[in-house]
Amino acid sequence: MVCSVITNPAGGYIVALSDITLACSDCGAEFPFTVGEQEFYASRGFTNYPKRCSSCRNARRGQPRDGGGGGGGGGYGAPRESFPVVCSNCGADATVPFRPRGDRPVYCSDCFNQMRRS
Ligand SMILES: [Zn+2]
Ligand SMILES: [Zn+2]
Repeated sequence: MVCSVITNPAGGYIVALSDITLACSDCGAEFPFTVGEQEFYASRGFTNYPKRCSSCRNARRGQPRDGGGGGGGGGYGAPRESFPVVCSNCGADATVPFRPRGDRPVYCSDCFNQMRRS
């Protein structure tokens, strides 16, 4: 019975010929890496042990890749929005492509262009 926990094996793949226990890099749970799986991995040419337990692997499957950061998201690829504002300079109704912050003046495109030019 082998119960060693291998988190980051160095030096490539070794078929242990017995079930080994790995620690999931996502949830930290221990999961078995069986001889059958080891042989399957070896036959596929994989050189690393699996990093995640089967439930984490299933959870990640079908999910969009998000850079592994976790949290955040949104923004990129979102549909362009426009927010109605009242120009702080001339009082005209206008729209801006960002959510206006209360502590900052917003301008209509006319005033905005005038300010950039001057
Ligand atoms: Zn896990
Ligand atoms: Zn204006």
